[in-house]
Amino acid sequence: MTQIYNKVALIGLGLIAGSIALAMKRAGFSSEIRGHARSRETRDAALSLGLADSVFETAVEAVKDADLVVLCVPVGIMGHVAAEIAPSLKAGAVLSDVGSVKAKVIEMVSGHIPKDVHFIPAHPIAGTENSGPKAGFAELFDGKWTILTPFGDVVAEEVAKLSTFWEKLGAKVDVMEPERHDLVLSVTSHVPHLIAYTMVGVADDLERVTDKEVIEFSTGGFRDFTRIAASDPTMWRDVFLNNKEATLDVLGRFTEELFDLQRAIRRGDGEQLFEHFTRTRAIRRSIIEAGHDTAADDFGRSGKKNY
Ligand code: NAP
Repeated sequence: MTQIYNKVALIGLGLIAGSIALAMKRAGFSSEIRGHARSRETRDAALSLGLADSVFETAVEAVKDADLVVLCVPVGIMGHVAAEIAPSLKAGAVLSDVGSVKAKVIEMVSGHIPKDVHFIPAHPIAGTENSGPKAGFAELFDGKWTILTPFGDVVAEEVAKLSTFWEKLGAKVDVMEPERHDLVLSVTSHVPHLIAYTMVGVADDLERVTDKEVIEFSTGGFRDFTRIAASDPTMWRDVFLNNKEATLDVLGRFTEELFDLQRAIRRGDGEQLFEHFTRTRAIRRSIIEAGHDTAADDFGRSGKKNY
């Protein structure tokens, strides 16, 4: 039986916390897992799915004596939860999170954390459009990056220990500056989600195309948009509200490129369109070559999907 942390507290018991718990079990960890979620329904489901050994009505009770506490709640309430649990964190404990945004989470959380607690923010770049405790699965992090964004005078051995923890869950680990993380993720995840939300909204609004036609004749591209646009509204509202600067920056660039292509279509400038599509095709090919996706026709649609 392996173990890196004796007692682990998971605050929030949805897709990510559930997957952490199941991946811990798969890795053979013998750690005690304590959990908290706000609703009784989620706490009961987590217990019956074996995601935690015990669940608690309050986060304060769940973090008692924990060596590792992971905040797995929406980004917007991380600061509130941190303020609540801070006085009950054990001296020497590691506090981490899985939030999709890093700089703002650090700003909201770090002020509450006692000096003898190591706060090491993290973000597993793995997820699906499903949420809740039943959505978790042990393989979610396999081969996917988890980015740690340590800051200030954090203890290097604690960062190494947390990296090993994530590696045992199947992840590859990288370390980044929080602001860099937010910019990179705005390009690779946040803005693409916003575009999917927009496109599916447009299809819904177009009165000249019936709902039946949209559903019947939706091809791969639109179907992928609908999958992404089905992602959890609370999570994504909080991502955009808390990664405002980087998202707006990338969206500005996106809008300029879109206008450029729009003009090329109007002018009948096939050369510009061809050059642009050739460049983007090369990016797709390099993603496949790096092993982050497959060139198969359904590229993963039949199995469990990660973004
Ligand atoms: P989820 O499946 O919706 O689970 C969220 C959990 O947080 C639920 O157990 C919920 O409890 C709990 N919660 C919500 N508000 C709470 C509160 N005020 N107090 C205590 N618990 C509360 O979400 P998730 O997908 O696991 O996402 C969790 C975090 O991971 C987010 O910060 C997100 O940015 C990040 N993340 C998500 C993905 C993804 O693809 N989903 C990927 C990487 C990182 P109830 O069920 O009782 O409401």
